[in-house]
Amino acid sequence: VIAMNPHSRGVERGSISALRALPGFSIDEATSRRDQLDRSGYRPAGPPMAVVRASSEDEVEQVLRYANENLVPVVTRGAGTSLTGASTADRGEIVLDVSGMDEIFTIDAGNRMAIVGAGVITAELDAAAARQGLRYAPDPASVGISTIGGNIATNAGGVLGAKYGVTRDHVLELNAITGAGERLRSGRQTHKGVAGYDLTSLLVGSEGTLAVITRAAVKLRPAVTERVTMLASFPDTRTAAAAAQELLLAGLDAAAMELVDAPTLNAIARVDGELGEVTRAILLLQYDGAGAVSDSQRAEGVLGPLTSDVETTQDPVRADQLFAMRRRAIPSIELLGRVLIEDIVVPLPRLSDAIDGLRAIENELQTTIFVVAHAGDGNLHPMISVPGLEDGSPIPEAAWHVADRVFSLALNLGGSITGEHGVGLLKRDHVLRELGPVSLALHTAIKRVFDPRGILNPGKAF
Ligand SMILES: Cc1cc2nc3c(=O)[nH]c(=O)nc-3n(C[C@H](O)[C@H](O)[C@H](O)COP(=O)(O)OP(=O)(O)OC[C@H]3O[C@@H](n4cnc5c(N)ncnc54)[C@H](O)[C@@H]3O)c2cc1C
Repeated sequence: VIAMNPHSRGVERGSISALRALPGFSIDEATSRRDQLDRSGYRPAGPPMAVVRASSEDEVEQVLRYANENLVPVVTRGAGTSLTGASTADRGEIVLDVSGMDEIFTIDAGNRMAIVGAGVITAELDAAAARQGLRYAPDPASVGISTIGGNIATNAGGVLGAKYGVTRDHVLELNAITGAGERLRSGRQTHKGVAGYDLTSLLVGSEGTLAVITRAAVKLRPAVTERVTMLASFPDTRTAAAAAQELLLAGLDAAAMELVDAPTLNAIARVDGELGEVTRAILLLQYDGAGAVSDSQRAEGVLGPLTSDVETTQDPVRADQLFAMRRRAIPSIELLGRVLIEDIVVPLPRLSDAIDGLRAIENELQTTIFVVAHAGDGNLHPMISVPGLEDGSPIPEAAWHVADRVFSLALNLGGSITGEHGVGLLKRDHVLRELGPVSLALHTAIKRVFDPRGILNPGKAF
């Protein structure tokens, strides 16, 4: 399907006929307005030139050929759940929506591998694997709404990241069309293989700037049946962070170790209709596999001196309730106003220092920073809410100032400005601080090799 915006500028009608030739052409400004947005709240200056819903590699190739010939930027789009503006398309750009390429081609239990189209929703891949006693482990909180192609392009992480790794650790082979319009196969359908540069890893996390991923072979793992879930409450966020460090030092390998602070718990409680004020912070822990019960007992011992408030359950329904509560964190805070959702990561022993630093920024700048963290991999999501501002309104300078201080905090602690959401549009001005000039120059040179005319997602990521 192509929806071409009649008000777009730049390309004359004659040359658009190459796009018109693709099946299902339509013109619908409302659709294209919707498809140019993602979940960052960023609002582009004007409508895109066209929306193309590709259903095959051939169609993707045709769009890129057209874009190269006419020098029109292309923004590849999965489900558009990016929180950084990475999948927003600006005035005159083509939205290339690959969410329709959603076929699960193979679940190969013997090779512990699935081959899927880029548009497959990640939870659906996991469900298909589960039918063969396997699972796809990376589980961003958006697992039910985001695509595998988008997850690969952002190297999405999730709750299980510390124990099972992030998206990058699960990608074996990619089929893609480079920005120059060439078909590329990178990697291989084996669990080892080192011939050549690791172009697969380069494409993972490249935020749609190098190539359009059309198909992926990904690693599956055996499904886990035994799980013990623990909800531990602490008087404050720092103690919760210190507890996370004690659990790591004890050599315990939690499948999930999620930290949620009191302001975030209150935001969730308001949505759930529980109006009582929460003053504590929590760690939501899960131990899994054959040693789950003994690990959870050891964890209780480690937590003993820090809190006596621990709920331990093997009931899968209660566990689902607790993790669903955690997944409601971002949507609940979004209801309070316009939110800047940050995504810093620090070395594991610096988690408590990061919490102290965030509280110091709050006090100095007289603001509230909501915090959830994947404590097991040092990845914090400080969220800056601007009450009274609608979604889509520009973020005020004062909120950017808070974010700037949060980035400095992360870098000063030896960390990064983004652990899993990517740079996109919103963090582009800060990326030089982390990468440095030599790395940034190499990024620019690599971009030119894959995409010599700068067609793919210009102005994003670096
Ligand atoms: C409620 C909520 C919770 C979230 N939780 C998490 C979380 O826990 N962990 C996490 O990492 N992220 C999280 N995110 C962010 C987001 O869901 C992820 O970045 C996700 O990977 C984006 O997938 P998508 O299909 O929506 O991609 P899109 O938003 O459509 O695109 C994201 C980027 O990938 C590029 N892209 C998409 N598809 C392709 C393709 N086939 N080929 C090349 N480039 C492509 C786009 O151009 C863009 O740069 C969350 C978002 C929301 C709204």
